[in-house]
Amino acid sequence: VTTFALLTILFLSGAQPEGVLLLPLGQIDTAVTRVLRHELARRFHQVTSVLPTESAPEYAFRWIREQYYAPQVLDSLARRTTANVKGQWTGHLLAVTDVDLYDDGLNFVFGQADLVDRVAVISLVRLREEYYRRPANPSRFRERAVREAVHEVGHTYGLVHCPDPRCVMHYSQRLADTDRKSSRFCRECRARLPHREVRR
Ligand SMILES: [Zn+2]
Ligand SMILES: [Zn+2]
Repeated sequence: VTTFALLTILFLSGAQPEGVLLLPLGQIDTAVTRVLRHELARRFHQVTSVLPTESAPEYAFRWIREQYYAPQVLDSLARRTTANVKGQWTGHLLAVTDVDLYDDGLNFVFGQADLVDRVAVISLVRLREEYYRRPANPSRFRERAVREAVHEVGHTYGLVHCPDPRCVMHYSQRLADTDRKSSRFCRECRARLPHREVRR
């Protein structure tokens, strides 16, 4: 999907350009995109739309790590939303992928965001119990996906990491951090959200 197509889809779908767009990169369970769409709309009070699925970000694969380089995924997302559509795109784009992401100096990342270009990506890989050789727990998996999605989209609204371990903007270094926090903003973070309608 080119940038032109992205905008066409955006306008044809009636989505507001300032809303949140979900972009599945690779095959993602529709039950997951459905719950993310619903929860993001609820948390940010913005129209949230799901774009047609695109291929997994193979361009970001690094043989030496057997992982995918998250900053390159963000670059690719940012190119389509900013450089090519100056002024027209004021939305927030969250890519959802099922490949394992990493960044320099980190073994992995659950997700990453660009605060300036308002693009973000999350990986579902390490949110499943099965990854840790434990029995599957679909509801816990979905809760984790929502927390990571709200966290990364929160960054695209300019929020930074929060010291409150219960706040969704708390940094998740390990899965235990994700499990400890909620999908909600603490009072301070909510007050920092830019739009009044987003803050409610
Ligand atoms: Zn973060
Ligand atoms: Zn907070």
